[in-house]
Amino acid sequence: MSCGDCEMTRRRVLALLGLGAAGSAWCGFRSRTELVDFLDEDEKNPYPFHVIRKPFPADPSREVSLLGYGGIRLPIKGRQKTQLDYEVGGKLFDFAYRHGVNYFDTGWVYHDGEGEKFFGHQLKKYPREKIFIADKMPTWLVKSLDDAKKFFEEQLKRCQVEYFDNYLLHSIHSREEYDRVYKKFGVMDWLKEQKEKGRIRHIGMSFHGKEDLLKEIVGDYPWSLVLIQFNAIDYDSAWFQSKKLYDVLSAHKVPVAVMEPLAGGRVATLNAKARRILKAAAPDKSLASWGFRFVASHPDVALILSGMGKFAHVKENVATLSQEAFKPLSEDEKETYKKAIAAFREFATVPCTGCRYCMPCPYGVNIPDVFAWYNGYAGDGLLPADEGPNATQELRKRFLADYARRFPQGTRAENCIGCQKCLVACPQWTFRIPTEMAKIDKFVAHVRETYVAQGGWL
Ligand code: SF4
Ligand code: SF4
Repeated sequence: MSCGDCEMTRRRVLALLGLGAAGSAWCGFRSRTELVDFLDEDEKNPYPFHVIRKPFPADPSREVSLLGYGGIRLPIKGRQKTQLDYEVGGKLFDFAYRHGVNYFDTGWVYHDGEGEKFFGHQLKKYPREKIFIADKMPTWLVKSLDDAKKFFEEQLKRCQVEYFDNYLLHSIHSREEYDRVYKKFGVMDWLKEQKEKGRIRHIGMSFHGKEDLLKEIVGDYPWSLVLIQFNAIDYDSAWFQSKKLYDVLSAHKVPVAVMEPLAGGRVATLNAKARRILKAAAPDKSLASWGFRFVASHPDVALILSGMGKFAHVKENVATLSQEAFKPLSEDEKETYKKAIAAFREFATVPCTGCRYCMPCPYGVNIPDVFAWYNGYAGDGLLPADEGPNATQELRKRFLADYARRFPQGTRAENCIGCQKCLVACPQWTFRIPTEMAKIDKFVAHVRETYVAQGGWL
């Protein structure tokens, strides 16, 4: 090996160790090509972690990885969510598969249908019997049994498979919709027939409703698993009721599968006060690893889905949930984590997970990014105020300039006309997008007026 090669390897190892900007496009690599090269090299000189596997509860003869690859945030090449990066994405799947991940989860709406096609293209490389491919019936789009049949046939085609290992009723949150689609239209009976024909191995449910509804329907079918939003932030929230849902499933011996273990990234950022608590307790542990360990420390969690669009995420999650390194939270760590989450909750934020289901907005509003931007200020207690320590012209100026710089005209909260199109797509029932947009718009306008009234110049 030449010295040049040594230097290249050294840089790659530094990158592997995360000594680069975690948020940069190539996760510590100088270019996309370098990332692709590194992922190729992993085949020869592998990363030393392998995800924990357990018997799949509905078929214990097969093992399933504790970490599942969620197809909701695949890597994209351009700015559009439909422009998937097949080369990098394929390498990420390969890396995850080599390191034990064998559950891959997609849905009709992921990347506007491009997600399922991406899965079809990538997953055909692996031995079919060694992987679990999960897809979901888009409940809210089903207006008849024929609709459901069309969705299912198209999904098999897009995913290039003869059968799904797991097929989920997507986004169950209302008794009325559940009864209409799955009982009145006969979709559930039809899905059971597909199971008998071998086109579906197991049937599960992705649940977005409340505890009472879950109690009513949990016994309707021997679900292979029920996917719930479960993370440290939503754990005991009145809206998400994560812990209550977990308890219902545990009591009925239904395996718990977890979506949004990091609450769309909020668990991986928290706020400054919470970060200080966790860094003081364990300087070398990332916030994401705390979040994953919190979830995985619950014994009835059978599967944790993570939408991993970046190599840094795959790499770290594999290590956190690996046979080699995983440790449940100790009692002391649980206490520390509880304090950190309480510190995060001191400031209210919009509980948007950044899933981007709501996009595009027909009126141009950049919904998830506006919420993320606002949360960045609100979560750290940095919103400009009329009195107190935040009542400064300097803070108002920075806040307004930041908003103008990040959001070109036409993409801001002020462009929301309240058409409600996004409401149908948003799986988070705890807030209404147009209501929050109106609040943010009003708040920005108020800060602007105050700034100008006090002599500021825009
Ligand atoms: S309600 Fe507002 S944010 Fe939602 S789609 Fe309509 S204009 Fe866009
Ligand atoms: S507003 Fe709702 S649909 Fe849109 S990104 Fe946030 S959580 Fe997802």
